[in-house]
This record gives sequence, structure tokens and C-alpha cells, in this order.
Amino acid sequence: MEHYYQEKSKIKEDQIRLFRNFLADDQIRIDEPMAEHTTFRIGGPADLFLMPETEEEIQKIRRVCKAENLPLFILGNGSNLLVSDRGYRGVVMQIFRNFGNLEVQEEKIRASAGTLLSGIAAAARNASLTGFEFAGGIPGTLGGAVRMNAGAYGGEMKDVISTVRVLTSSGEIREIPGGQMGFGYRTSIVEKEDLLVLGAEICLRKGDPEAIRETMRDLQTRRSDKQPLEYPSAGSTFKRPEGYFAGKLIMDTGLAGYQVGGAKVSEKHCGFVINAGGATAADVCRLMGDVQQKVFQKYGVELEPEVRFLGEF
Ligand SMILES: Cc1cc2nc3c(=O)[nH]c(=O)nc-3n(C[C@H](O)[C@H](O)[C@H](O)COP(=O)(O)OP(=O)(O)OC[C@H]3O[C@@H](n4cnc5c(N)ncnc54)[C@H](O)[C@@H]3O)c2cc1C
Repeated sequence: MEHYYQEKSKIKEDQIRLFRNFLADDQIRIDEPMAEHTTFRIGGPADLFLMPETEEEIQKIRRVCKAENLPLFILGNGSNLLVSDRGYRGVVMQIFRNFGNLEVQEEKIRASAGTLLSGIAAAARNASLTGFEFAGGIPGTLGGAVRMNAGAYGGEMKDVISTVRVLTSSGEIREIPGGQMGFGYRTSIVEKEDLLVLGAEICLRKGDPEAIRETMRDLQTRRSDKQPLEYPSAGSTFKRPEGYFAGKLIMDTGLAGYQVGGAKVSEKHCGFVINAGGATAADVCRLMGDVQQKVFQKYGVELEPEVRFLGEF
């Protein structure tokens, strides 16, 4: 097993002081192990880990990073992320519980980017609003879900988002209509335009509370029956190639249970790479490469990672 080791931090003490000017001590962590912030439970230390609570703090963090030329990564719940064993030489800004609240207004829900989709689904159910049931079991934040256009069981964020509140790369706050977000399969304009999602408005419809509850229960059962939720993972490792299912291709290539170090192709669902115990990012990466190569050899299909990578590989 490869050991984590700390390389020299990119951030100097006087730069950290710039963040201390507007953040409290408990909003700042140095050399923070990213394994604690990813559902894969993998990842070395981030030089600086910041937990802003307001839009103003988020804006200031971005401004300081720009002025000081510090690399900045926006983290949600880390449920679609593989972080290098060496960690990240830069600033990680976490937009999660520290920046997560929501408000239901008739058939709309306005939520900030750090709100978990499960929390939004529960609020919708409690207000008898239908349309968000598909997202209740996706373990991400609203910000990460908008970035990824997360979807499941025939629904996707594109169907329910009416506007997205963003911080643009030039530091301006804007409300972008959902139709202009460039939503596609696991993609949106967030990455290309270097946007930071601050929140969104979700547009739903009045529904029958018992039917909503029943759909959510049913989808949760389907998930736990089919997916290896008992192991750390980042969900589907590869995107669905056109005309195929990644999990089925991997299974038919004979790779169920294929293992590199602690990383393993789940036997329950071959589309998931799991951390079967002590997996490193290097293990996952090698396993992913082997899977891509073997599936290509057998079927001529190129599997594209759905999981995002952070740090050096
Ligand atoms: C068990 C399991 C099941 C899953 N099932 C599904 C599923 O059914 N459907 C599905 O689509 N996905 C699924 N996923 C993957 C994952 O939950 C989604 O992609 C989710 O939307 C990621 O959200 P996050 O907050 O965890 O984002 P992170 O993993 O933290 O980040 C993902 C990307 O979004 C960016 N990002 C995060 N927050 C922001 C923000 N506020 N502004 C701008 N960029 C941001 C990050 O920089 C990164 O590039 C599953 C994952 C697991 C572990």
C-alpha cells in the first residue's frame, strides 16, 4: 500500500492570515485530510480547508485566492470525487452544512448550495410537493448536483431547476435561468465558465403526500438492493456510454470482483468501484485504467470517468 506523504504546502503563513481577517478559527483547517470529506474515504491533505458560512465570505475567499494566485477547489459532499493520495496543494472551499439552508414557498424551494439533496427531498415530501423524489437518494449537495446535472430513475436536475444563483469568475453574483445552464448528461456550464453555485430555485408541483412517500421508499429500496451502499464509493465510476450500460459492460468483461490493492469492482453492481478496505487513490486509478483497457479490448467502447479527480495522479 502506498503511504500518504505531505509535500511542501503552497500556502504561506501570511497568506493564511488574509483568511483569518474574515473567518473564525473554526472555519479554517490546515493540512486537512480529504479522506474525511469524500464518500470514497480516500485522499491526502489539503493545504488549507475553509468553511465559509455566508455569500460574502465565499466572495472574499475567491478574491484572496485570485489576488494571491492560490489554486482553489470547490467541494460539496465529496460524493463524486477521487482525491490524490498526496492531497491538494491549494485551498479547498467546502460548501456544505456550513452553507446549507432552504425555504419552501408554495410550489418552489429555494436552497443554498450546501444543502443535501436528501434534505430538499424531505422538505418537498413534507410540503406535499412532487418532482424531486428521484434525487432523494443521491448523496450530494445542491451545488455538486447542479454542477453534475445529477440524475437518477428518469429524473435529473435539469427538469426541476428554475434558476441558479452563481458567483461568476469575475466576482459578480448572478441568477441564471435553468434553461441557460447548459445542462447535459452529467454536465452543465458550471465547470466551463468557472462558476461557483451559491444556490438554486427548484420548481415542483403539488402532489399526493402518500404517493410521494411511497415513491421515495421504493427508490430507496431499489438503491439499497442494487448498489453496494455498505462500502465507501463515489457512486457510478464511469459515465453511461451511448447505447450501453457501463456496469453491464464491465460485468460482461468478467471484471466483477476485480481488485487492485483495496479498490474493487463491486460484485453487487459492477458500475461501482468500492473501497473494500484501505484503498488508495493510486489503487482506484490503476483499477479504473485496467477496466477501461479491458472493456475497450473486448467491446471497443471507451469508458469515460464520471468521478472527478483532484490533485496529482
Ligand atoms: C452511493 C452513491 C450513489 C450515487 N448515486 C448517484 C445518482 O444516482 N445519480 C447521480 O447523478 N450521481 C450519483 N452519485 C454521485 C454524486 O452523489 C453526485 O454527482 C452529486 O451531485 C455530487 O455532489 P457533491 O456535493 O458530493 O459534489 P462533490 O463530489 O463535492 O463535487 C463534484 C463536482 O462538483 C463541483 N462542485 C461542488 N459544489 C459546487 C458548488 N457549490 N459550485 C460549483 N461547483 C461545485 C466540485 O468542484 C466537483 O467538480 C452517487 C454517489 C454515491 C457515493
